[in-house]
Amino acid sequence: MLNLIIHIDEIFLKGSNQPIFYKRLMDNLRVLFPKINIKRTEGSLWVENVLPEQLEQLALVPGFANYAIAFKADSSIESIKQAVDELVKSEGNTKTFRISAERSYKKFPSSSLEIEKEIGEYVRVKYGWKVALNNSDLNVHISVGKDDTYIFGNTHNAAGGLPTGSCGKVMALLSGGIDSPVAVYKMMTRGANVDLIHFQNQTTVTEEVSAKIFDLAKILSRYQPGVQLFMVPFAEIQKQIIMKIPAQYRMIVTRRIFNKIADRVARENKCLALVTGDSLGQVASQTLENMSVIYAASSLLKMSPLIGTNKKDIIDTARTIGTLATSIRPYEDCCSLFVAKHPETKAKLDRILKIEESIDQKIIDNVEVILYPISTN
Ligand code: ATP
Ligand code: MG
Repeated sequence: MLNLIIHIDEIFLKGSNQPIFYKRLMDNLRVLFPKINIKRTEGSLWVENVLPEQLEQLALVPGFANYAIAFKADSSIESIKQAVDELVKSEGNTKTFRISAERSYKKFPSSSLEIEKEIGEYVRVKYGWKVALNNSDLNVHISVGKDDTYIFGNTHNAAGGLPTGSCGKVMALLSGGIDSPVAVYKMMTRGANVDLIHFQNQTTVTEEVSAKIFDLAKILSRYQPGVQLFMVPFAEIQKQIIMKIPAQYRMIVTRRIFNKIADRVARENKCLALVTGDSLGQVASQTLENMSVIYAASSLLKMSPLIGTNKKDIIDTARTIGTLATSIRPYEDCCSLFVAKHPETKAKLDRILKIEESIDQKIIDNVEVILYPISTN
């Protein structure tokens, strides 16, 4: 079991609202890691009972800048030395070190510099390590408070941003591809609570498709408590599209119908924006003309956090957050059946509006939407 110090990121910028953001971060961590204890300290959180194998997941939970393995001491030099010994024991290959001390408790008998000198000398003599102020193997931080002093080692980068759920709700269109799970995660790191909606085609591989979507939702639920997945059986609408819409327009009409249905489900669930994994120019549906026509199907705010991100960077993030392996599992997305040899890339709204009049509005209005709450852990 490890104890950690977690340093906040953009919560710093929140002035008198900081407590609300802190609370959200602590609530999220408590749900995602039910066995940990958390306490707020100055500018950071003290977290107890973390398993070493949980660190990777923890570092990806949105809302804090970094974490470090930490020990707690009383605010006395003797107790600080004991805690430093424990920190030293937990760190491996160390040859050089430095001490960085700070005091929020100004009545502590030694100044920060005096603490650094005394503890530095203690470590140098006891362990035979060399002091290196720059690029040391181990930076021993000592943060002296009134009652408790925290000793922590090197800091490790975390996801940063804002705690998920601190900025309201959005609805993300989740496909089985690489991009949309990354878009979801990006929105989580900006403080949005993300609900998911997937449009499901009935094919011979329906079960594989749903398994993949459920697996992606499960992975995303490592980073946000209370993920909700809305599944929309799309086979009947798809049949109409194939019967009534010329091949080169099918993708655009399909995407517009996705947006119309997502708009309704989003409003019913108090989501203020629709999120997609669109990246400008990546596929035919992502030209400026086509996106304009597709996004016009709903008046909700649209967010495409990957719009200016290159594929390579999207893939890197997918690998980091653990969705890549699932995303590249082969299966037929309902959209792959729509890919025309020569799809329209410069759609015009008035023309598409005319073309889609042939689709029976009732089947769009009455389509079934099934909610699956995704449990954390
Ligand atoms: P991805 O890798 O996320 O599938 P992509 O590059 O394959 O994206 P498209 O297939 O054109 O791009 O899809 C663009 C966006 O439309 C997706 O990122 C996703 O937000 C949404 N989308 C596509 N298919 C579906 C679907 N079946 N259900 C829900 N949303 C979808
Ligand atoms: Mg796709």
